[in-house]
Amino acid sequence: MKNSMSRRQFILAAGALAGSAVLAGCGGSSTSSSSTSTSADSSSSSASSSDDSYTLVKDGTLTVVAELGFAPFEYMNDKTGDPEGFDVDVINAVADKMGLQCEYLPNQKFDTLVPLIKQGGKADVSIAAITITDEREESVDFSEPYLDSNQAIVAIKGSTETEATLNDASKQVVCQGGTTGNDWITENLPNATCVPVDDVTAALTGVQTGLYNAMVVDLPVAKYMLTNSFSDLDIIEEIATGEQYGIAISKDNPNLTKAVNKALEDMKSDGTMDSIETKWFGSTI
Ligand code: GLN
Repeated sequence: MKNSMSRRQFILAAGALAGSAVLAGCGGSSTSSSSTSTSADSSSSSASSSDDSYTLVKDGTLTVVAELGFAPFEYMNDKTGDPEGFDVDVINAVADKMGLQCEYLPNQKFDTLVPLIKQGGKADVSIAAITITDEREESVDFSEPYLDSNQAIVAIKGSTETEATLNDASKQVVCQGGTTGNDWITENLPNATCVPVDDVTAALTGVQTGLYNAMVVDLPVAKYMLTNSFSDLDIIEEIATGEQYGIAISKDNPNLTKAVNKALEDMKSDGTMDSIETKWFGSTI
């Protein structure tokens, strides 16, 4: 649908997403909040100078919303019930730099994240391997990009499918609904039958069982999922979309975006970002 599809990416759940998700901390260690607000409802100011002040849904806490089925960026650890992943470490470190605790809301569908941040009142930020696009920037602000990404086409091992053969009404190409992968299919495989679903693991399982001919998903997620859970699937094409991930923040809270950008900058210069990249990808990207 959009024409600025030069960036995109994807999701996946590394296990059943507990329907009964509860607020889960993401392990911030520095918790010194300087908030002075006494408001009992949902807003509080936490910066020391009024010029720099931003609002938070919950005093002293950076409240995060995500779709928690997109390993290695965010997924639920079935044993602990806590979110884990690259993005979880990033936002945890951001919160830490800001002197805030970090708390995740229960899992949300990917295509509700930007509207939820736009609407305000529930979460301060969304970090979910969200590609910065012109269309989304009409609804929310983004932090500076924190990671580059691309798309991949995934099919069963030994498949002879190509971009050309998939562009046919008889071919079912699955994606996560509302993603840049979804947009890519619409734009580049206009004749294919595009099947948007909510859950990446379900989508890949469908490719595995032959329900779908292929899936289009963010390349790092395809690599991770195929290595860890879907060894009978292959990446049949990498698509150089040149996407960049950003943290989504309400347009009504510009100083929060500034503070998040400052934290990201500090994390780049003090080596925090490098160590998170190495932890999840084996090297800096
Ligand atoms: N990067 C892709 C997008 O922004 C997919 C993100 C996701 O599914 N978490 O649309």
